[in-house]
Amino acid sequence: MSFNTNNNIPVWLEPFKTDELFQSSLLAHTPRNEHEQAYFVYHLDSLKEHLEELQKQDVIKLWFAVKANPLSSIIQTLDSADFNFDVASSGELGQVLKQGISCDRILNTGPAKSKMQLTEFVQQGVNTFVVESINQLNWLNEVAKEQEVKPQVLLRVQLQWPDGEKNPLGGNSLTPFGLSVEEWQSIHVDSFPALNLCGLHIFQWGNMLSNEKMYSLWQQMVEPLVDLANSIGMTLKVLDLGGGLGIDYLEQDQKLSWQQILSDLAKIKTQANVEELWLELGRYAVAECGYYVVPVVDRKLNYQQEQLVLAAGINHLLRPAITDQPFPVRSLRDSSAPNQFFDIHGPLCTSMDKLGHLALPNDVEVGDQLIFGYAGAYGFTESMPFFLCHQIAAEYTFSQGKLNEVRAAQSAEWYLR
Ligand SMILES: *Cc1c(COP(=O)(O)O)cnc(C)c1O
Repeated sequence: MSFNTNNNIPVWLEPFKTDELFQSSLLAHTPRNEHEQAYFVYHLDSLKEHLEELQKQDVIKLWFAVKANPLSSIIQTLDSADFNFDVASSGELGQVLKQGISCDRILNTGPAKSKMQLTEFVQQGVNTFVVESINQLNWLNEVAKEQEVKPQVLLRVQLQWPDGEKNPLGGNSLTPFGLSVEEWQSIHVDSFPALNLCGLHIFQWGNMLSNEKMYSLWQQMVEPLVDLANSIGMTLKVLDLGGGLGIDYLEQDQKLSWQQILSDLAKIKTQANVEELWLELGRYAVAECGYYVVPVVDRKLNYQQEQLVLAAGINHLLRPAITDQPFPVRSLRDSSAPNQFFDIHGPLCTSMDKLGHLALPNDVEVGDQLIFGYAGAYGFTESMPFFLCHQIAAEYTFSQGKLNEVRAAQSAEWYLR
């Protein structure tokens, strides 16, 4: 694994901003217990505003990919904004049901659906499935027959293109998500009378930041998908284009235009001639509302490189180590000192524990708090909190001008045996 060091220095065109009330609440915040070193905070008021904006349209039915952030108050905020929920495990299903979401607003995706899990989901009342293998299809048909229900089912397709410049994905890495057109062509809709096979699902791109690229990708998928539906006797009613709408983590002024997405998708909907177009948004829905705050424990100069060591690193925020993309960072307190680049490390005894090579005011010192942006998605639950027995991060929400504790920080004692 390598990091952007001196190359690819981010350009700070539009740094993430926090409103004043929020900023002053964070500055005034004192740890709620002795274990609290670092915390996540989710700005629910701004989340609500953002989601309402996304819902001002009638082109797409929006689902929330729960894996991005399964926190109860995040789910409740999405619920109030009339989002539906895409769950990929029993745990996610339980968490969504616990928030009072009804089953007709829940969709199940994921490559590892056993017959047992399908049985459990159908028993709980889930009625919409994205099926990713022939086994899943047969099992779901059996379960539906046994339980006398008729779930609506989308087949997940994985496309490949000939290598070369025209390949819209840039490559063809094989994943366990869905099946090729060729494999799906071996089935016929009539062989699964217990299922309402009404659509196709495709999602094999990530963090897209260009409207043009996204549209060109979607466009090139329409024909093979429509052909597949025809050849297996499916009336294509629903097309689900997954997630993957990007967040500008490197702050290179590459924000997607939502209005453009809407007009592009309206065209896709016509081209594919479907009644419904679905998206399951993860990061695009919730990344921006979340922040991660962590104190500086040490600062040193090492071979001419300024280094900061933080109280926590990839144990709370793993994503930079697995994607090579840092979350953007600021100093929580205002400083007029000029910026310089720091290597920012966490406390784990591995060189992988690095949150980035990022610019901060050069007067940053031990005890200062740093705030990372876009941490509302793939933060707390994507990380590796147990390694080296550090404290578990606290989680707070900010709503109507107030910080509310959702989860107190914990020492390693609660899970160590
Ligand atoms: C993870 C996931 C998403 C959301 O992805 P983002 O890139 O966060 O938008 C949507 N659909 C499925 C099936 C997923 O697994």
